[in-house]
Amino acid sequence: VTSHFLRALAQRTPARRDRRWIYVPYDQLTDQCGPLAELPPEELGIVMLENPAKARRRPYHKQKLAMVLANGRQFALEQAARGVAVRWSVAGADGYAGALRRLARELGPLTMMEAAERELRRELTPVIAEGALLVVPHAGWLTSDEEFQAACPAPPWRMDAFYRALRKRRGWLVEKGKPLGGKWSHDADNRKRWRGEPPAPTPLRFEPDAITREVLALIEREFAAHPGVLDGTSLPSTAVDAARLWSWAKAECLPQFGPYEDAMSVHSSGLFHTRVSALLNLQRLSAQRLIDDALSLPLALSSKEGFLRQIAGWREYMRHVHRVTDGFRALPGEDAPALATPGDGGYARWAERSWPTAGDGDGGSQVSRLDAAQPLPPAYWGRESGLRCLDSVVEQVWSEGYSHHITRLMVLANFAMLLDVSPRELTDWFWVAYVDAYDWVVEPNVLAMGSFGAGDLITTKPYVAGAAYIDRMSDFCKSCRFDPRKNCPFTPLYWGFLDRHREALQNVARLDMPLRSVSARSATLRARDLRVLRWVQQTLTAGRALRVEDSP
Ligand SMILES: Cc1cc2nc3c(=O)[nH]c(=O)nc-3n(C[C@H](O)[C@H](O)[C@H](O)COP(=O)(O)OP(=O)(O)OC[C@H]3O[C@@H](n4cnc5c(N)ncnc54)[C@H](O)[C@@H]3O)c2cc1C
Ligand code: SF4
Repeated sequence: VTSHFLRALAQRTPARRDRRWIYVPYDQLTDQCGPLAELPPEELGIVMLENPAKARRRPYHKQKLAMVLANGRQFALEQAARGVAVRWSVAGADGYAGALRRLARELGPLTMMEAAERELRRELTPVIAEGALLVVPHAGWLTSDEEFQAACPAPPWRMDAFYRALRKRRGWLVEKGKPLGGKWSHDADNRKRWRGEPPAPTPLRFEPDAITREVLALIEREFAAHPGVLDGTSLPSTAVDAARLWSWAKAECLPQFGPYEDAMSVHSSGLFHTRVSALLNLQRLSAQRLIDDALSLPLALSSKEGFLRQIAGWREYMRHVHRVTDGFRALPGEDAPALATPGDGGYARWAERSWPTAGDGDGGSQVSRLDAAQPLPPAYWGRESGLRCLDSVVEQVWSEGYSHHITRLMVLANFAMLLDVSPRELTDWFWVAYVDAYDWVVEPNVLAMGSFGAGDLITTKPYVAGAAYIDRMSDFCKSCRFDPRKNCPFTPLYWGFLDRHREALQNVARLDMPLRSVSARSATLRARDLRVLRWVQQTLTAGRALRVEDSP
């Protein structure tokens, strides 16, 4: 089945004698740092594993499976071409652990950089204890655990404190200890609505070669039940593709990155966002390199600072909070219960057939500070909701495996939060739907930031908003059957949310004003807010679209 790839690998890979063997997990595809950068290629060998059970663990978007597998295979071939010996294996029923034990018996102990995903760290713990794997620090991260500890010594943690300390230490956009431009954050300048000008960059297209085409065929054949559109022309898979993507992002996106960072549009899933996350998370692109390049470009300070804040600030901060909370299982003063098996993010309700998940005892933290436990509506899987903003973003996600940050936060997560959807189920949905999702990044972003599931542990407030915000920052409302000023359900849902969770939110300083306003709402309005909630929950859970004429 994998003949073309294996034939190409056999042709390229050099003799295997006298090598230092390194295990390269699916998301460490780099020879620019870590053990693969330390010795000449002729002294190195790499072990790489394909694991069909991992791909079936959740109903992952087909594009995500292709992204991981195609980049892995292309990386193996690129390493073989530069003289590194490559050992490619397919893991069996005993998973990564079993396959690595067997390989270590044959090749001797394997070195690896510490796994980024908690899921993989957990599986490999016994293999490491047995001495078959020697773990060195992950050289792809920009910051150490000690740096996080120093900047964020006690919970609640704040990204700003971490980011400021980092900028001072690295001297990024800093002069004599002070931020260039006089302020640490340019977020307030970066809230322009996009009205079609300047034109949004056209996403880059790729031409899949025979290796990638073979992966695409394999996914369609072996993973047919997985959701999402598989599109080889939007799939960067080689090192050359990754370099092209970054060149495109520098030329087309970064010059306008800052001002339109929060804008949303039916016409573009990314606007001026760079689309580098999937390759960054596979280490095909290096965060350090991206920062060095962005800082040396002649960009407006708001764009430079905005981009630096995302990569050096949010990305690093999120992975630290995931680690120190053991994936939100160990929280200050409490342990959150974990699901026994991986969730399907609502796949079964939408597809009307269950997703067979392995009962390996760990499906992730169920932390839910607001006691939200509603099911995720099938609208997130593509059933029409009648809400233009939601339907438009969902469509972007299932056709591309991608949408940009604000649509994730202020449409998808916002709406789910307003409906009291279970943070775990929403997280599992994001995990399967996006090509860039891995536990260390998707869990903090959704369980904590997008659902307020961990309260104010990592962010100051729940990111909830009514129709006025969406209308201000997007063009969605212009083509919606609902009117943001008259009958859009988002607004009563927003007030109802604040009302329902008033007690839990009373100490959230940034909600003082809205909480005062909600208290001033009449009993009639509050009763209507509740009727809208019931109507939206019932209609969408039943898989039907909302109609203006049915509004309570
Ligand atoms: C609900 C929700 C779920 C998310 N899930 C994921 C996820 O599964 N994987 C993922 O990589 N990012 C996730 N993010 C963060 C962010 O939305 C994406 O990294 C970003 O949209 C990726 O697109 P881009 O490369 O065009 O980003 P750009 O806007 O161009 O930003 C550049 C880079 O900054 C980094 N970045 C920015 N914000 C964050 C953040 N909050 N956390 C981590 N990195 C960040 C990313 O690496 C991104 O590529 C999520 C955010 C939210 C609100
Ligand atoms: S009117 Fe409401 S539902 Fe429609 S796009 Fe605007 S915010 Fe979304």
